[in-house]
Amino acid sequence: MKITEVRAYPMSVPYAEPRWTAHERMERDQVVLVEMRTDQGLLGFGEIAGGPQKLICELLATFSAVIAGMDPLGHDEIWQKLFSLTSPRPGGIGGWDGLPAPLPRNQRPQIMAAIGGIDIALWDLKGKALGIPVFRLLGGTRTAVFTYATGGYYRENERPEDCAEQYARFVADGYHAVKLKTGALSLADEVTRVRAVREAIGPGVMLMLDMNAPYDVGGCIRFAEAVAPYDIVWLEEPLHWYLQPADYVRLAAASPIPLAHGEREWHRYTVRDFIDSGAIRYVQFDSTRAAGFTESLRIAHYAEQKGVVIAPHSALHIHAHLASAFGDAAFGAESIGDPGRHPIHHHIHRGGAAVEDGMARLTEAPGFGIEIDWPWVEKYRSS
Ligand SMILES: [Mg+2]
Repeated sequence: MKITEVRAYPMSVPYAEPRWTAHERMERDQVVLVEMRTDQGLLGFGEIAGGPQKLICELLATFSAVIAGMDPLGHDEIWQKLFSLTSPRPGGIGGWDGLPAPLPRNQRPQIMAAIGGIDIALWDLKGKALGIPVFRLLGGTRTAVFTYATGGYYRENERPEDCAEQYARFVADGYHAVKLKTGALSLADEVTRVRAVREAIGPGVMLMLDMNAPYDVGGCIRFAEAVAPYDIVWLEEPLHWYLQPADYVRLAAASPIPLAHGEREWHRYTVRDFIDSGAIRYVQFDSTRAAGFTESLRIAHYAEQKGVVIAPHSALHIHAHLASAFGDAAFGAESIGDPGRHPIHHHIHRGGAAVEDGMARLTEAPGFGIEIDWPWVEKYRSS
């Protein structure tokens, strides 16, 4: 079997109302669907979070030409070939060896995202070629994977009790763990919000805080001490974007709450250094943002050896397969508490992991187990 082409379907749809994390206003749901085509008619599908979509699609077209003719089951060779384009190579400076010249340094987030989308599509295709789901390819047997609901995006004029109501609904829907956005308000207002949510969910439900990088080390220690009485499982992405493992080590030494990190990393080398630092208890690499399922798998094996628990960021329908294969070395997969958060996924996917009573149920459908609903893809296409 040979790869013939990679096709990209960029999609975008406005949210019913804007929402905020501590860092950014979110107005639209955006996904680039990646279709891997082969000479035997077999198709694999991957996806990419992030943007700008135009640049990501241009990179996918470049990569399509690079990997055309390769064996789609050779995911590692394909990954290495694409990744090698990000660095200088002998004779490569002008693209004189027939491959693209070393790719621009300022496009690295989009390059790693495009590699990720292709890689996910290869794993989907591999499962379909063998007629088994990805979790079984990895040796997994668990068809029920622990999951949690994420919510608490900031909205204009929202009161803490409005936020608490959303969390009471998550618990009523069967979730045993929930994650709350934090970091956008004053410390006093954040504590009020966390307290309201804890009161709404009761003492038996796990509560994680997703912070989106609002603090320096000192500020985060004060935050951690203030919210610790509300029994918090982890502080996710607590420190400013430029702070490094050494800063996380200082925070971990003083924080009464364990730390989680990884969704903003582009590859295993920086994640390795966070794991090696001993500062993080949970690692949250996201295949759909960067570097794909292969890189998530490499990170998961490394984390397991180091006693760091994997808790992949987002994309339940993909990451539940990884969590299945890692048993107790995985916390679980993240699900969409509110279907309005990911309207594109909600409409373009048929089948795949379904959430029931706080567990993601995996099926025996091959690959990632998802059929694409093409009329919805057309409806949401952004170019
Ligand atoms: Mg997060």
